[in-house]
Amino acid sequence: MASHPLFTEDHEELRRSIRGFVEKELAPHAEEWEAAGDFPDWVFTRMGELGFLGLHFDPADSGQGGDYLTMLVLSEEMARSGSGGVSMAVSVQCEYVTPPIAKFGTEAQKERWLRPAVRGERIGALGITEPDAGSDVAGITTRAIRDGDEYVVNGRKTYITNGVRADFLLLVAKTDPTQRHTGISLFLVDTDTPGFHVEKRLAKVGMHSSDTAELRFEDMRVPAGNLLGEEGKGFHHIMWELQGERLSAAAGACAGAQLCIDKTIEYVRERRAFGQRVVDFQAVRHHLAHAQMMVDAARALTYETAWKVHLGEYPVREITEAKLLATRTHFEVADMCLQLHGGLGYMMEHWVQRAWRDSRLARIGAGADEVMLDYIAKGMGL
Ligand SMILES: Cc1cc2nc3c(=O)[nH]c(=O)nc-3n(C[C@H](O)[C@H](O)[C@H](O)COP(=O)(O)OP(=O)(O)OC[C@H]3O[C@@H](n4cnc5c(N)ncnc54)[C@H](O)[C@@H]3O)c2cc1C
Repeated sequence: MASHPLFTEDHEELRRSIRGFVEKELAPHAEEWEAAGDFPDWVFTRMGELGFLGLHFDPADSGQGGDYLTMLVLSEEMARSGSGGVSMAVSVQCEYVTPPIAKFGTEAQKERWLRPAVRGERIGALGITEPDAGSDVAGITTRAIRDGDEYVVNGRKTYITNGVRADFLLLVAKTDPTQRHTGISLFLVDTDTPGFHVEKRLAKVGMHSSDTAELRFEDMRVPAGNLLGEEGKGFHHIMWELQGERLSAAAGACAGAQLCIDKTIEYVRERRAFGQRVVDFQAVRHHLAHAQMMVDAARALTYETAWKVHLGEYPVREITEAKLLATRTHFEVADMCLQLHGGLGYMMEHWVQRAWRDSRLARIGAGADEVMLDYIAKGMGL
């Protein structure tokens, strides 16, 4: 039976297959990969073999030909990996980096970057954020200056997921510094290009198994054929891509929050204090009831918005609301679940502290809460 009317039996079969893979091949390694600060590249190749990195891409592009909702199923099931870092790295590959190549890429670009990435043979990263420009994407200063058949790139990027291990970077750079949004273009850059430097691997509060890099480009020569989409349209292209990614982040956040609630219920049913089970305190039941209500509300908004996207609409305001509500809810639920575990929840050996640390990021990444509220206000005509 389908888990929700949004999903068909095909989606549910896909869900079972991803869940089997995640529980058998990823979750058992969560602790080890978190401690190592990395996970092995075979995760990409294995997921590529299974078709999970190209669920909604055309079979001609090594994809599975599924609909948009298959991405939601993937995001929800990846939450079971027990490691936000692995989920994030995979979503960068199949939701941040590859969709713009599928939509705006030439045949040659698809052959060189999209298809190998969908097969898990090449790992991608997305370079938007800079030390002096994050939320204000139009304020980036990395320059790409045309010189004959090439662009010469100079600048820096930071907080780049997969940035240490990536084989290629989807680079967002300024081709016209006199303009803000209309001066931005996208480039596909192999990371072995002379002038590409991984400056630093950054240490983080959470998402430990995902690598995060600071990058520097020094007189890096990029062939003009590596320009993705139209020159000067990069901002528009990347904002289009961020919408799909934000909605699947919302679905993943709801699934992660639900797992926290379910596992915490198991704990408070066993744990005893003051001669009774912790779950028997009304205050504890209220915490859990409130958490469930918030997750149900966030999931309902996410699914309704996903349905609109599935029908071909582009509901920016609702996508933004879903991302904001779901990711805030995830963090608040993880915080409450940590609380209900008492001192045990504060121990590094326990899963709940990781859920708490990992869930904090989504309130900053892919659009900080305040920026999301600005989008919603704009959508309200304010
Ligand atoms: C672990 C991690 C992984 C990441 N991965 C990537 C990646 O793969 N690729 C990539 O390009 N980027 C990545 N990022 C960067 C991320 O997208 C940015 O951190 C985010 O967009 C915020 O930009 P910033 O950090 O420069 O914050 P700033 O833009 O400096 O903002 C700081 C704070 O100011 C407030 N603020 C900003 N604008 C407004 C506003 N309009 N109204 C009110 N308040 C505002 C918010 O509270 C915000 O958090 C990653 C970040 C992290 C931490």
